[in-house]
Amino acid sequence: MKRIATIAEMKAACRQVARTGKTLGFVATMGALHEGHLSLVRASESRCDVTAVSIFVNPLQFGPAEDLDKYPRTLERDAALLEQLGADFLFMPGVEEMYPQGAQTYVLVEDLSNRLDGASRPGHFRGVATVVTKLFEIVRPNFAFFGQKDAAQVAVLRKLVNDLDMDVEIVVCPIVREKDGLAMSSRNAYLTSEQRQQALVLHRSLLRVQTAVEQGEHDSAKLIEIGKQAITEEARARLDYFAIVDPDTLDSVADVSRGALVAVAAYVGATRLIDNILVTASPQ
Ligand code: AMP
Repeated sequence: MKRIATIAEMKAACRQVARTGKTLGFVATMGALHEGHLSLVRASESRCDVTAVSIFVNPLQFGPAEDLDKYPRTLERDAALLEQLGADFLFMPGVEEMYPQGAQTYVLVEDLSNRLDGASRPGHFRGVATVVTKLFEIVRPNFAFFGQKDAAQVAVLRKLVNDLDMDVEIVVCPIVREKDGLAMSSRNAYLTSEQRQQALVLHRSLLRVQTAVEQGEHDSAKLIEIGKQAITEEARARLDYFAIVDPDTLDSVADVSRGALVAVAAYVGATRLIDNILVTASPQ
């Protein structure tokens, strides 16, 4: 695996892949890799000839009161994992390389960026759309692999690629969970063992909703109540949002008969966690 820190070198390496007619898959991450990230790398490797992974903790997607400084950074361990997995390129630029002084161009997917996590984290998706646009231009992948874990991010990026006619196919991979259901996240590293138990309430609330759907409840307002109620049963968790929306537009849906994204965000201690499921109501 080749480690690359400059944009010029990464472009040259990726253009060389394109010239040889090979397909290039790309996985963008902020590092502190876990099985969720690795599943994206494996998906890329099984679909593409060459796989590039980036590790960049993107300051632009963190709010002023968020965890940019304490975000876990485990570069050597990450590089070893990627090497073992057989990734071809690891792009790990510094902040100055990605955002040199004087940069003043941003990418904003307008409405979608204000929904779900975007509503709670102003500027977050502008930061995501900007860095992903830059990374796509540097790598020019044929396929880019993202996790369903960040469902709102998937909606924003699909819209971005569509609106800007980008030549990249977004591939969305399922959420990888711990054995007890907790969605894997780099931020789980912040949790104490007590909080780790409390964090299970997110998945539990989604399962509660899924069961209700399977039992015939399709009314979103009622399902949201069920989900919220489940969250209140864990006194130490503080709900941010519980929403039932169309997975593409992130608009609320009144009932789930035609399928919907059920998404939750909650704080456990100071750590903000997210999780979601796609529900499909069985035909009547
Ligand atoms: P991050 O490093 O948090 O920016 O995540 C990089 C990519 O990994 C994003 O596409 C995430 O959606 C994806 N990802 C993070 N956690 C998981 C997970 N538990 N399962 C699947 N994909 C994940």
